[in-house]
Amino acid sequence: MEDGKPVWAPHPTDGFQLGMIVDIGAGALTIEPFNRKGKTFLASMNQVFPAEEDVNKHMEDNCSLMYLNEGTLLNNVRVRYSKDKIYTYVANILIAVNPYYDIPKLYAPETIKSYQGRSLGTLPPHVYAIADKAYRDMRVLKMSQSIIVSGESGAGKTENTKFVLRYLTTSYGTGQDIDERIVQANPLLEAFGNAKTVRNNNSSRFGKFVEIHFNEKSKVVGGFVSHYLLEKSRICMQSKEERNYHIFYRLCAGASEDIRQRLHLDSPDSFRYLNRGCTRYFASKDTDKQIMQNRKSPEVLYLSAYSGRPEGPSVGRPGRLQQDKLDLFRVVAGVLHLGNIDFEETGSTSGGCILMNQSSQKLAYCADLLGLDQEDLRVSLTTRVMLTTAGGAKGTVIKVPLRVEQANNARDAMAKAVYSCLFDHVVRRVNQCFPFKTSSNFIGVLDIAGFEYFEHNSFEQFCINYCNEKLQQFFNERILKEEQELYQREGLGVNEVHYVDNQDCIDLVEAKLVGILDILDEENRLPQPSDHHFANTIHSQHKDHFRLTVPRKSKLAVHRNVRDDEGFIVRHFAGAVVLKKGKKNNDALHMSLESLVCESKDKFVRELFENSNNSKDSKQKAGKLSFISVGNKFKTQLNLLLEKLRSTGSSFIRCVKPNLKMVSHQFEGAQILSQLQCSGMVSVLDLMQGGFPSRAPFHELYNMYKQYMPDKLTRLDPRLFCKALFKALGLNENDYKFGLTRVFFRPGKFAEFDQIMKSD
Ligand code: ATP
Ligand code: MG
Repeated sequence: MEDGKPVWAPHPTDGFQLGMIVDIGAGALTIEPFNRKGKTFLASMNQVFPAEEDVNKHMEDNCSLMYLNEGTLLNNVRVRYSKDKIYTYVANILIAVNPYYDIPKLYAPETIKSYQGRSLGTLPPHVYAIADKAYRDMRVLKMSQSIIVSGESGAGKTENTKFVLRYLTTSYGTGQDIDERIVQANPLLEAFGNAKTVRNNNSSRFGKFVEIHFNEKSKVVGGFVSHYLLEKSRICMQSKEERNYHIFYRLCAGASEDIRQRLHLDSPDSFRYLNRGCTRYFASKDTDKQIMQNRKSPEVLYLSAYSGRPEGPSVGRPGRLQQDKLDLFRVVAGVLHLGNIDFEETGSTSGGCILMNQSSQKLAYCADLLGLDQEDLRVSLTTRVMLTTAGGAKGTVIKVPLRVEQANNARDAMAKAVYSCLFDHVVRRVNQCFPFKTSSNFIGVLDIAGFEYFEHNSFEQFCINYCNEKLQQFFNERILKEEQELYQREGLGVNEVHYVDNQDCIDLVEAKLVGILDILDEENRLPQPSDHHFANTIHSQHKDHFRLTVPRKSKLAVHRNVRDDEGFIVRHFAGAVVLKKGKKNNDALHMSLESLVCESKDKFVRELFENSNNSKDSKQKAGKLSFISVGNKFKTQLNLLLEKLRSTGSSFIRCVKPNLKMVSHQFEGAQILSQLQCSGMVSVLDLMQGGFPSRAPFHELYNMYKQYMPDKLTRLDPRLFCKALFKALGLNENDYKFGLTRVFFRPGKFAEFDQIMKSD
């Protein structure tokens, strides 16, 4: 960087502003912005980056720019976004900015067609190009592939995931209805697992890995969905501007009169599990009412039409269809009525609580809908069974009365357990709809929430962030580490790029005994678990750990001289997150409530619990109160997922949310920059700037271009062939390097070379 040349210097809202260096001091540069002549400011060396000569120029592959840095990346993405070009490559990684409106023809059937079989980079960047690359890699390498879609809430992960699924099934399906089923599973999953939040009106509150399986002819044969971490707290409580899962409102708004009466439905305002959040219906083309009343609405039709039950699909069998729907709706309504049960103190010296007067009706509705005995449900909600060893009477069962607060917790734990088993069921049913006997390979698409940090972070954020640490590690491994290892193996002699290895953060969470998850489990096994003791144990186990600190006391707490130091801060890859409570780790039901539901008279409800993993765990524990540690279960699931990802070839899509208002044509630079930084894109640029992002094996180049060459040249072995070819074309020797097995190209140079060859 020199005086007078354009540079990108930091800007508080735009991310970067264009300016000129007017003075170079010790450690700081004086910058004059181009649009405010004479108004200079200081910026530290490492925040200022060289800009391209023409800042209005944009490149499909960011690596084709002259300077690869965060300033030019942000500008490239910005210029492209202003022209509705929402996709940009950084080598093989796709950046996707959410346009927040439908760009004409971007996903049209003819666009799908145009991407089929075309190499990455030959057409404008597109999610379809990534999907096609995964497909071609799967065929050529005979290896399963995964596409990892990441980004913050509202960045467009789920929409892009759907485009990938649509692309693959349309392009490489068999034309039978299985293709359509894979796509149509989404509305159903979204009805039960998505909710309106302040960040996204249709926010996925669960993670999913959708596999499309292919036969030996590389045609779609079926699919499989795995799901992760449904947000359970939302079932009982939402913040003011947010909603519970869509299905609750759709049922209240759109159920037929007959169903309303059978399920005793009312407006959302009358249900505790809905009325503390936002109870508005959606006023768009997808109103809750319309979705429900539309007889062709996918989530209504789907289950029944494609039921994989032994008796076969129930298309044209209205009875079956009604039954399937009703089963689901019954449980949803049961949860709503359960939430309306209130307790009050008995006033007696023995403590305990009873149902409030008006709650008996709700209890009756709930018991009826879930196939439970009313009286049993009442007793199970207000007491808890304990095995006592007191007085020598070993193993005597006693019923301990619950206080109001405990009964409320028991009720909410039951609601969460029932709803999350229902969600598991929905996923199971979806999976029955595209079964396959054998498959050769699959392409899996991972759609899971990005790093989350709120003012109050709970265990749910902790799990999400832990998951993102693991995915970030995988990304580093694939893109950065493997890239460098490849350069070394091929003898390229390229400088090493440093990146933050986050294994220490992962160990902090998942290490045996001393990791946060195990400490939390241990805490929850204590007779009197406490957040304070939990946090203290973590701090004493990991004194001076780089990733861990104690939250500062809030001013109020200092002022009142009260303790406010509970919790801990984890310094994640993407920023520090304060955690205060570990309680949500354990949504265990009281034994009596659990066995009550497991023995429901209603077959559907009984099966919900029998089939859920949780109850299997509890059975193994031989009737003991089941300790369901959400954290450790997730750790196991996550490790399985990563094992799977590691066994596949991978592509990455980094989704970006352009603004917090969720509107089109608004580019908020600073917060977009922070998303690009958090997703590891900046380290990738460093690597690419000094590296050789495009490469091709000698034999591949030989096969691709031998037809253009005279016979004499084609008799050479592929390596010599390539050497001769490059020499003959007079390529600049700085633009490529010969490795042991392949040629490596500087950013953008492979495409140039390809063009020269094909134009000749
Ligand atoms: P979350 O983590 O909350 O689930 P997400 O990353 O999955 O968020 P999406 O639900 O995919 O975000 O996108 C949010 C909204 O943005 C969509 O409902 C849609 O309105 C809009 N959107 C996203 N991608 C596109 C696109 N490519 N074209 C048009 N609109 C889009
Ligand atoms: Mg989503």
